[in-house]
Amino acid sequence: SHTASKIAAGEVVERPLNAVKELLENSLDAGASKIILELVSGGTELIRVTDDGKGIKPDDLHRCLERFATSKASCVEDVYNISTYGFRGEALAAISAVSDFTIKSARSGFEPSQLRSHFGKVSAVIPAAIDAGTQISVENIFENLPVRKKFLKGQRSNEQEILKFVKQLSFHNSDVQFIVSYDGKEVYRTYPGDSMLDIAKKVFAEDRLVYVEDECAHSDSGVVRVRLCASNPAVQRKRRDGILIGVNGRVIKDHALTQAVVQAYHRNIPQGMYPYALVDISISPSLVDVNIHPAKAEVRFQLPSLIFSAVQRTAGQAIEKFNV
Ligand code: ADP
Ligand code: MG
Repeated sequence: SHTASKIAAGEVVERPLNAVKELLENSLDAGASKIILELVSGGTELIRVTDDGKGIKPDDLHRCLERFATSKASCVEDVYNISTYGFRGEALAAISAVSDFTIKSARSGFEPSQLRSHFGKVSAVIPAAIDAGTQISVENIFENLPVRKKFLKGQRSNEQEILKFVKQLSFHNSDVQFIVSYDGKEVYRTYPGDSMLDIAKKVFAEDRLVYVEDECAHSDSGVVRVRLCASNPAVQRKRRDGILIGVNGRVIKDHALTQAVVQAYHRNIPQGMYPYALVDISISPSLVDVNIHPAKAEVRFQLPSLIFSAVQRTAGQAIEKFNV
């Protein structure tokens, strides 16, 4: 029902950022190599994501907007063993219930098609003018939830938190090109040949960074790879919000892993001061549970202490590279 989908929507999309995150993750899941994000008015007027991924068949468009409709988990166990992300099959249902939502998609071998959902009222599939990939436009989000809309932060802070998120996401997906524009003006771009270090320098607007990678094989966990860009200990910040973590191409929040970086620096940076670090972890999807809560970025690791020491050790190698 309408009420049920509005409630579900509230759990998944509280702010424009949540919608942006779900749309970008879907584009990554679709194998996109180029993703364009456009916002108008900080996302409240328009959020548009255009990708060159594999696209959606016309017959599947309706299903994409149904709750628990996912093409990515074929059984319950899959939810615990997925290399893709997101609360299974909830995001588009939730977003399309609280916005004027249009999805256009071209899948090779099928007629390019589009579907519109006007605050949950879904119309028929019609042909669309799109050559490849998928474009999703989310207009007037929360217009049917006046209270939520009223408590949204201002345009600037929506823009800032979204840009921070996309920059970090682009680091964890350096093989994908990201282009972001706000009100028609480009604000961020990565390029196809960019390395993680190139991107980290853009993210932090800081050149005194090194790249380190470390791989360890473990009998229970397979290979754990940590790739990290971290700053010279001479760079000292009062806030720890420059320590950013991602797992398997996704942005996560993990206090313990942030602490692993802080501890690696503790001899080189005074207490209460922090470095910049972007930490990218690749592990077997079966060792990380990403589905704790739809709108939260916390994950649960099977072997948290193993991951902790891998991150701490890699951050230590970064410090050594600066010869301190
Ligand atoms: P989930 O990502 O958990 O499967 P979503 O609600 O985010 O659920 O998306 C529903 C479905 O819509 C996906 O499983 C996928 O099949 C399809 N989909 C959404 N966005 C895209 C996209 N950009 N490209 C291709 N398919 C997409
Ligand atoms: Mg999704």
